[in-house]
Amino acid sequence: MKKKLFLTYVLIILFISSIAGFFSIHLYSGFYREEFKNHLLKESDILSDIIREDANDVTEEYFDNFVDIYSKKLGWRVTVIDSKGNVLGDSDAEKSQMENHLDRKEVQSALKGKQSVEIRYSSSIGAEYMYSASPVEINGEIIIIRLSVPLISLHDMQRKIMGYIIAGIIIAAGMSFIYAYFLSDKISKPIDELTKAAREISEGRYSKRIVIKNSNDQIGELTNSFNYMSERLTETINALENENIKLESILNSLMNGVIAVDNNNNILMINSVFREFFKLPEDVIGKNFYDVVRNESLYSIMEEVQEKNHYVADEVWFKAVMEETKILRIYAAPISGKNCGTENIGNLIVFQDVTQIRKLEQMRSDFVSNVTHELKTPLTSIMGFADTLKEGAIDDKDTALKFIDIIEIESKRLFRLIQDILSLSEIETRKEDINQEYFDISEIIESVCQVLKPQADNKNIELIISVDKNLPKFKCNRDRISQMMINLIENGIKYTEKGSVRISCKKTGKYIEINVKDTGIGIPEESKERIFERFYRVDKGRSRKAGGTGLGLSIVKHIVFLYNGKLWVESKMGKGSKFVILLPFEQ
Ligand code: ADP
Repeated sequence: MKKKLFLTYVLIILFISSIAGFFSIHLYSGFYREEFKNHLLKESDILSDIIREDANDVTEEYFDNFVDIYSKKLGWRVTVIDSKGNVLGDSDAEKSQMENHLDRKEVQSALKGKQSVEIRYSSSIGAEYMYSASPVEINGEIIIIRLSVPLISLHDMQRKIMGYIIAGIIIAAGMSFIYAYFLSDKISKPIDELTKAAREISEGRYSKRIVIKNSNDQIGELTNSFNYMSERLTETINALENENIKLESILNSLMNGVIAVDNNNNILMINSVFREFFKLPEDVIGKNFYDVVRNESLYSIMEEVQEKNHYVADEVWFKAVMEETKILRIYAAPISGKNCGTENIGNLIVFQDVTQIRKLEQMRSDFVSNVTHELKTPLTSIMGFADTLKEGAIDDKDTALKFIDIIEIESKRLFRLIQDILSLSEIETRKEDINQEYFDISEIIESVCQVLKPQADNKNIELIISVDKNLPKFKCNRDRISQMMINLIENGIKYTEKGSVRISCKKTGKYIEINVKDTGIGIPEESKERIFERFYRVDKGRSRKAGGTGLGLSIVKHIVFLYNGKLWVESKMGKGSKFVILLPFEQ
């Protein structure tokens, strides 16, 4: 920029100087020549006047003296010629040897009464001369005073003038070059700064500002405008970035996956849920949806929404390699471009992972059908025996008592079932238990065992309690922990034919560890996980006979989870089972 500007200045200066020099030289040369001519004519006038005054004393020698005196005074050649062209006197040559001058142009003009100036090569002197001739009338005769100057002196003078002019031009141009250098620097520097700053801004560094000294000119104004623009740009970009961050945060905080594509299916926006779910790379904005997302179901939904130009919803099963099948609820809709003045600007797909919801729904419906089934069995039995009694069995006392016993057993089973369902639903809906206090777990275990002792004694099963002294107090709802222990110990008694049920409790790290170990029938490997499900029983008949509801272990699991604990079972068929529970206590 600076170089260009400087070169332009140099060219302009050289151009102007050349033109100015050319005209000056031309003008001065012409002017000087004219002046010289006039001077010559004036001097010949003066000489004419002198001769005219001396007219009475004119002799042959007079002219010789005259030319010598005035030639010396003027430094020019002086010649006097008569009307016939004869030389009467000459300052530079011997008049007798000089040829007739009648044919000389200036002489011819003078004879016609006109002063004139001629330039011509003098063969007698051998140089170019300027001649002036003036006529003078003396004693009725015309004589001519001629002055001649070698043009060499005029040329010398012209050369000198030209030299001065050229020197002046060179000095002026030199000074102009220096000034042009500083001027181009002054102009180009802020423009360079502006260019640099504009480039920085275009590369995203919006905070760039320019400081220019002495900025009262247009460049200063431009700089101020630039800085103002840069400030406004920073503000606007910041505001846009904030909006983008907000939008991105909102999108990324959504539980649902979101993707938006334009009319060419290029991705406009995507949130982290979508990206992570379909395992897409980070940088997918601007890429084609079909190149990036590899899912046939999404393709067909996208095609459907484009075809219908209307909202579409569907539910699809998605199975990634090595992962469990997920159920996705997908909503797709065209993005209206009303705000942009066009019809649609693309399409939006939102999905919701409904796997858990569908699982829960399935569990709920399974639960309802299980409960219905469980309730139906004792109720059918009760209704059946009640009908039989009504139809006459009541008259047979022994049979009637037997039937009433069965009705009582079934009613109790029904009561237990309803109680278990209620407890389960109560525990399930809680995040934290109610009525919590600090209790000694060993004391709860002992009192539960006392209640269950007659049941154990009935089956000749030994209840062994082994509890560590100085167990930390545990913050809990006493009834809940009692219920958990009852369910576990009762199961131990129920599923053991002979032997013992050993209950131990100790501190293990930050947990209170409870073990309920029996010497019973054991649990098959494949059922170990499932026994904690609602209504799951290894042997339905046996459980029913033993008065089980199929909900005992499910209640235990939920109580343990309510206290952020862990539980598992270790078992060997025919040898017995050991239920292990870890409950974290407050340190
Ligand atoms: P139930 O009322 O049938 O006992 P639970 O939920 O308490 O229901 O137990 C679920 C199933 O787990 C039982 O039906 C039984 O098959 C098995 N089970 C539970 N405890 C034991 C145990 N100590 N020994 C062997 N099997 C057990």
